[in-house]
Amino acid sequence: MLMPVVAIQTVLDGKKEGKSATIRGWIYRKRESKQTIFLIIRDASGVIQCTVKRDNPSWSQAEKVTIESSVVLEGIVKQDKRAPGGYEIAIEKLSVIGLAETFPITKGKGKESEEFLRDNRHLWLRSRRMNLIMKVRSEVLRFTHDFFRKEDFIEVSPPMFISSACEGGSTLFGLKYFDKQLYLTQSAQLYLEALIYSLEKVYCVAPSFRAEKSRTIRHLTEYWHIEPEWAFADMDDLMRVEEDLMSYICQRTAKNCKKEIESLGADISKLKAVKTPFPRITYTEAIEKLNAKGFKIKWGEDFGFEDEKALAEEFGGPFFVYAYPRQIKAFYCKSHRDNPDLVMSTDMLVPRIGEISTGGAREDSKEELLKRISELGLREEDYRWYIDLRRYGTVPHVGFGLGLERLLTWMLDLENIIDSIPFPRTIRRFYP
Ligand code: ATP
Ligand code: MG
Repeated sequence: MLMPVVAIQTVLDGKKEGKSATIRGWIYRKRESKQTIFLIIRDASGVIQCTVKRDNPSWSQAEKVTIESSVVLEGIVKQDKRAPGGYEIAIEKLSVIGLAETFPITKGKGKESEEFLRDNRHLWLRSRRMNLIMKVRSEVLRFTHDFFRKEDFIEVSPPMFISSACEGGSTLFGLKYFDKQLYLTQSAQLYLEALIYSLEKVYCVAPSFRAEKSRTIRHLTEYWHIEPEWAFADMDDLMRVEEDLMSYICQRTAKNCKKEIESLGADISKLKAVKTPFPRITYTEAIEKLNAKGFKIKWGEDFGFEDEKALAEEFGGPFFVYAYPRQIKAFYCKSHRDNPDLVMSTDMLVPRIGEISTGGAREDSKEELLKRISELGLREEDYRWYIDLRRYGTVPHVGFGLGLERLLTWMLDLENIIDSIPFPRTIRRFYP
């Protein structure tokens, strides 16, 4: 009979020193010398070195075991400075659960091409690197939920099938829905707006789909969107909640995921430095700054990736750009009543990535909204229910959308957004 199984991390924490322990997991590395076989075992919690001596009855099992075979083993835990993690298990009993065929990923990242690892994503997810990224992703999601619950937001579930665009037609995925044409949602916003009339403060974390044709380090075709929306609020409330969320996530991640962040080689000090209030500049000031840096961008043009990166360099952390020209923002943005050329919209930018969120006040006047819909050539009947919201007890309200993967890419210094999600979808990648 085997003893109760413990997580490898429990052994690495020194809780089993000098005692017998049973662990299970997969063979991560294997090395053989004349008298000893070294097996590095991994489980969800960590990796540990285990050894078998030639005179041990488990020697033959250890000899036949291959990389990625699943095993369960029992042995004595010893402190050993030479072993990675500082502890080692001297195996006394070793059983193979599933003997692995020759594992296609033999060398790990850096040796095999990125392309090969992406084609074998279902297997590459077992790497330490992906294991750590997915753990931080889970924690960031937890902190997101904790934040909104703490602020009395109610979690809601928006639809994924939609009948008309939220963010413009060019990135809309169409699909056949029985004999009708529908789309995959680009944002839950319009639905969240309906829900605030019942619940006042709502949020969701849900997939959004964008038919992004460009290949960049910050675009996926399917990503997870953190979206709150709330009633009786203005731009100042919006930016305050947004920066509070951001600093809450960064501070808690820096504290709770220190080990993961350090193992990933990411800069933890950058997260610790995220403190409110964030700098705020207007769109017009941003244009002036860019022109002073030698960029040729005119008032009224939208920022490109390079413009955003150049702006962000100056701040070294998250900051807001607000008061955008109405022509570059969506139909639902509320215009400044004293300057209708400007809308109450704000982007949060971070170094290296640029935009990680867009938010703003939503047009709450039925007349203004109808004017915008017609100016942009949109079909009023497509937005009938949305216009209704302004008919029955309209309220000033705000909301924003924060891309979870862009946030993680920044937080963990990932080279490409692709590594922030287990099964990335891009224009070219939809397998596995
Ligand atoms: P961009 O101009 O960078 O393509 P956007 O302004 O079209 O982004 P929004 O409609 O403002 O994007 O979406 C809100 C947030 O959702 C963005 O700030 C970003 O964090 C995230 N996001 C948008 N598109 C994508 C995408 N294709 N992949 C990953 N995240 C995205
Ligand atoms: Mg945006």
